[in-house]
Amino acid sequence: GATIGILGAGQLGRMLATAAARLGFRVHTFSPETSPPAAQVAAHHVPAAYDDEDALAAFAEGVDAATFEFENIPPQTVSFLRDRGVPVRPDDKVLAVCQDRLAEKAFLEAQGIVPAPHAQVDGRSDLEAALARLGPDAILKTRRFGYDGKGQKRLSADTPLGAVDDLLTQPCVLEQKVPFTAEFSVIGARGEAGDVAFYEPSRNDHAGGILRRSTVPASLPPAPLAAAQAAVRNCLMSLDYVGVLAVEFFWGEETGLIANEMAPRVHNSGHWTHEACLTSQFEQHIRAVAGWPLGLTDRHSDAVMENILGAEVDDWARLAGTPGLAVTLYGKADQRPGRKMGHTVRLSPKRG
Ligand code: ATP
Ligand code: MG
Ligand code: MG
Repeated sequence: GATIGILGAGQLGRMLATAAARLGFRVHTFSPETSPPAAQVAAHHVPAAYDDEDALAAFAEGVDAATFEFENIPPQTVSFLRDRGVPVRPDDKVLAVCQDRLAEKAFLEAQGIVPAPHAQVDGRSDLEAALARLGPDAILKTRRFGYDGKGQKRLSADTPLGAVDDLLTQPCVLEQKVPFTAEFSVIGARGEAGDVAFYEPSRNDHAGGILRRSTVPASLPPAPLAAAQAAVRNCLMSLDYVGVLAVEFFWGEETGLIANEMAPRVHNSGHWTHEACLTSQFEQHIRAVAGWPLGLTDRHSDAVMENILGAEVDDWARLAGTPGLAVTLYGKADQRPGRKMGHTVRLSPKRG
């Protein structure tokens, strides 16, 4: 059997590794941590820095194809593997887009979806000019390395500008705060042969910048959902993308359809596919990485996925004993506040 390499070894890598094992693949993971969530289920883990060329060369020897579970992998790590004959799917084209919020917004706009009104901010005077143009209700985000709402700050008319001095040490973007009615995401996949498949969009609820809940059906008007899917298809085609891709959207009667950001990987808002679809997003990604045809994405049940953060749950066995609740835990020992520890999925008969 073939061996699949995964760069990054958090919970997404863990669920990818589990899906890969089910299809008969061996998995090798590579990340700087010694015992991350994915390493617990992989056949082999390389604990090394992403720029450790000796470790990467050895990793390349052992894998037939590779992918990544997060978008902040250095592009050079991907090109290093490719230069040693390992196909990496998706390839590094998408990293240049997804590692910079400004580049990402330009890309999304070119695919037919408007991003939130925004401005490039490199320092205090840019920020003042941007606030004057976009209004005081805005969100300042670092262009690089943000996730789970880290590296961003919400501003209003009475925020002292000194409160964002730490963010302003990095290149930033200021976004108008969009008064949306709902957030949803579209998760699509493209296979090696160019076949494309979509999961039904989920409605996503966030608190404090962190995803709390994803619900299908999204119960939103069909027109914006269809427009969003068409735009994600454009993203897949224009990047010659292979694998699973997620795009987050805002929608409201007043605001219309607005693109938030993309994730070139399996996505937290797609975890429900594991319980409610024949082919989960994890299996779908592994199929694409392995050069296999994509699987069916039809949904057989309604589903609600909820994240478990930090120390919210201390009795896993009791949670697992809740009738009808599918529990997935990531094997993390340290229950830091806000840290994603696991999730639950509740299914109900398909109505929507
Ligand atoms: P992720 O973990 O999804 O990568 P992130 O740190 O990249 O998160 P964003 O997706 O940019 O963060 O923002 C997190 C959440 O904050 C969004 O899902 C949304 O709820 C809210 N948010 C972000 N930008 C805006 C905006 N311009 N207007 C209104 N709300 C926003
Ligand atoms: Mg993000
Ligand atoms: Mg996001």
